[in-house]
Amino acid sequence: MTLRHLESVMKKFCLNTRFGQGLPFLALILAGSLAAQDKPVEYVPTQLSDTVTMIKGQGGNIAMSAGADGVFIIDDQLKPLTDQLLAAIRKIDDRSVRFVINTHYHGDHVGGNETLGKTGSVIIAHDNIRRRMSTDQFNNFFNDTTPAYPPESLPVVTFNDRVTLHLNGESVTVHHVPRGHTDGDSIVHFPVSNVVHMGDIYFNGLYPYIDLDGGGSIQGMIGAVELGLELADDQTKIIPGHGPLSNRTELQLYHDFLVKARANVQALVDKGLDLQQAIAAKPTAEWDATLGGIWITPEQWVTFIYNSLTGVNHYTPPASQDSDSE
Ligand SMILES: [Zn+2]
Repeated sequence: MTLRHLESVMKKFCLNTRFGQGLPFLALILAGSLAAQDKPVEYVPTQLSDTVTMIKGQGGNIAMSAGADGVFIIDDQLKPLTDQLLAAIRKIDDRSVRFVINTHYHGDHVGGNETLGKTGSVIIAHDNIRRRMSTDQFNNFFNDTTPAYPPESLPVVTFNDRVTLHLNGESVTVHHVPRGHTDGDSIVHFPVSNVVHMGDIYFNGLYPYIDLDGGGSIQGMIGAVELGLELADDQTKIIPGHGPLSNRTELQLYHDFLVKARANVQALVDKGLDLQQAIAAKPTAEWDATLGGIWITPEQWVTFIYNSLTGVNHYTPPASQDSDSE
């Protein structure tokens, strides 16, 4: 995919979808250099508890905790927009950000790390996030390479399973969930505020992106959603990586959709169909009109599932996409 093509795709999404400001995609990483720094982004804060606020801007949804011990945030969106994001955060609380937690390595979730790292915030993330950010990452889905990040962007505290921050009146636990959207995802639980940030395990209202090249899989995504359901009750406010604020009932529906979509594709694998035959059989037809027209197409979605189930740990573009590559 060329940058020009990407730009036209972005324009289409900006104009035609309700996700305008919250564009869900890795494409935005590549487009980071295209995003006009001067163009004002609308930041929409939603207070979820005495201390926790969800901030929607451009990139992955952010959770911000501000209280007696200071300010910390979950994810920091796109690099070119960091100054605007920090201004939006300062409107809520003007102290500096003590800690940043990254839910995964994609540029629409870690783009602000460089500025925050340079100015003294401690960045905390799963081991695999630091590993992937430290080296060039080629991705077959975008047919493009994201270069290694500068040292200031890298997490300085990493963990392999979970880590807990005892701040602002609660013990906030960051749970690693293996091989879901990527191989470095975490779900963050605020037990007193009763908030769960799902990262990109949860795309609310559109087919999710599974980064096969980045270690993701449908099986891991379902397992991670099940942990989210365990952590939540009927009152829990659930922040998806992309899309509007959610709740346990909607997360359960998302879970059931993932399970059924996986079963439909598994049935085709069991019959011996190859990927193209599986796509042609339209195993996700019941959701294609509602979830498949926003970003990830039905063909891409079936490919994520089919490759996950057959152990192909990278994206395989359909023949029709080849003409996009240059
Ligand atoms: Zn992502």
